Formats: sequence, structure tokens, C-alpha cells
Amino acid sequence: MTIQPIGRAEAFADAAPAAAARPVPLLSVIAPVKDEEVAIAPFLARVRGVLDAVCAGEPWEILFVDDGSTDQTAAHVAAAHLQDRRIRLLSLSRNFGKEAALSAGIDHARGRAVIPLDVDLQDPPEVIAEMVAQWRAGHDIVYGVRRDRQTDHPLKRITASLFYRSHNALSRDKIPEHAGDFRLIDRKVADVLRALPERNRFMKGLFAWGGFRQVAVEYDRAERAHGRSKFNYWKLWTLALDGITSSSTVPLRIWSYVGSAVALASLVYAGLLVVDTLVNGTAVAGYPSLMTAMLFLGGVQLISLGVLGEYVGRILIEAKGRPIYIVRDSLGLEE
Ligand code: UDP
Ligand code: MG
Repeated sequence: MTIQPIGRAEAFADAAPAAAARPVPLLSVIAPVKDEEVAIAPFLARVRGVLDAVCAGEPWEILFVDDGSTDQTAAHVAAAHLQDRRIRLLSLSRNFGKEAALSAGIDHARGRAVIPLDVDLQDPPEVIAEMVAQWRAGHDIVYGVRRDRQTDHPLKRITASLFYRSHNALSRDKIPEHAGDFRLIDRKVADVLRALPERNRFMKGLFAWGGFRQVAVEYDRAERAHGRSKFNYWKLWTLALDGITSSSTVPLRIWSYVGSAVALASLVYAGLLVVDTLVNGTAVAGYPSLMTAMLFLGGVQLISLGVLGEYVGRILIEAKGRPIYIVRDSLGLEE
């Protein structure tokens, strides 16, 4: 069986033969964008300079993935494309979420190394120079690690740290703490990601699973330069659930142990009751203890059902096999 790259739109099928003639960029920067019209120009102003310096004459590309923006984001990118053909655009048919947008970018980027980079300039593009140096030294994944989380709200700091700890306790694939999506990945890593069939694209987990020679570079993360964050706590919670359920089955297995422990405890309790009745005569056990035991067990059962549901829901999504994203349009990809 041959492994097909996923999510490629039909439109690109006939663009493929020309690919050989096109110069392969040294670096592809992938910028997922959702309603970021104000951020495009400052982003380009800074990133282009960095890429020119780092690539020193070799070709590069910046691939924006428009994740269903409802503002003028696509128009701003299109205008930039007319000025500089190395700026390219992939427009998705609606908002698919950042992880899907990143997948789309990785599927369509052609560089020998691929760098996902948020458009809000929170991750300083200057770090790319250091990443490329590590890549040239033989590493396949160079991930950015934040030196501290001072620019984050304390609640975000605590919840993020809780997530990393529980994820890494439950899963064999350890996600480095304080690493975001900003990283450099070699072409061969990108090809491995493209070949993965799963719909659930929790990128950090996939990188951790893939292995390869990885190294970290540290940097300071800035405040968002323009616009507002697209993530709220509910979205982050869902992302965290995706991360854990996609890489660990511990939450499923734990219920056998909880069940065994409760059953064992109830046997011991039953034994105690028999002895108590024989020694002290019959006393009708109290209503409160009965209620407590019933409610407790009912709660435990509902929780376990809920956990099961989390997995079943995800199995449904995988089983349907719908594409991770749909491409509506593109600019400059065939050049
Ligand atoms: N983003 C996206 N699709 C979404 C939400 C966000 O492509 O559904 C992009 C967004 O435009 C930005 C990047 O993902 O370039 C990171 O988003 P944001 O800065 O809001 O996240 P935060 O830094 O607050 O975690
Ligand atoms: Mg941001």
C-alpha cells in the first residue's frame, strides 16, 4: 500500500508535474491566520528581513494559511503576493482551527525545512537564525522553548503547566514544557507528518511521537503585537483533551482499577457487616451511609462513561475519515 499525503485538494493534482522545475525553497515559513488583517504587514516587514539574511540568496517562501478569516486578511496577503511572489496563500473553506491550518501548511509547503510561526509576532522571527544553525548542525527538529512565561496570565501559566504535567505523566510521548508551535522541522519530518492518517492533529503530540533528533533553542516570548488572541480557556481545554486522548489510553484503563478497588472495599465491608451482625446482633444500617455509597458510585460511573465518551467521539471522527481541512483557493503555490 502506498501512503498518500492527506488533505491535498484535487486542484493541486495537475500542479504536481511542474514541481520539479520550480526551485525548492530552503525555508518555508507557515503562518496560520484567522482574522489577522492588522498583523500581516508588520509580520512581513520583520520576517522578510530575517529570511533574506538567513537564506543568504537561497529561495524562501512564506505560506499564509487563511483559516476562514472573515475580515480582509486574505486581501492583505494577496496584495503582498503581488509585490513579492515568495509570499503565498492557501485559503481554507472555513475555520478549521489552528492545528488543521498548520497541517494544511505543512502539506503544501515545499521548503527543505518548514517553520510554523504565529503571525502575531509573539515568537521573535530572529530566532530562526539560531534554529537554522542547529538544523545545519544535523538536528531534524529544532523547537523553540520560552525562557519564562512572564507575559502570560497567571491562570494560563498554572493551567498550561498542569496540562504538560498530566500529559507527560499519562503518555509515553513527552512534550517538552513551554514549547509552542514555533519550531523548525526538516523535510523528512514534514513528510512523516503528511503521511499520518489521523484527523486529530495535536501537533505537539505528533512531534513528540515522531522522535528524530530534537534540540531546543530558548527565547523570550513577547506580548501579542496586534489584534487579539483567538484562544479562550474552553478552546484550550478542548485542545488539552485532544492532546491527552490522542496519545494515551491511561484514562480508559484507570476505571478497571478503580472498579476493582471499590469492589474489593465493598467485599471487606460486607465481611465486617456479617461479623458485626453475629457479634452485636442485627442493627439496620444507616440511611446516610447508603446514600453516600450510592451517590459516590453513581458519580464514579458517570465519570467513567464520560471518559469513554471522549474516546468514542474521537473514534467516530476518525472512522468518518473526512479531510482535516478543505482548500478553497490558493495563490502562488504553482509558481
Ligand atoms: N489561528 C488560526 N485558526 C484559529 C485560531 C488561531 O489559524 O482558529 C492562528 C492565529 O491567527 C495566530 C495563531 O493561530 O496566527 C495563534 O493564535 P493566537 O495568537 O490567538 O493564540 P495564542 O498566542 O493566544 O495562544
Ligand atoms: Mg499569539
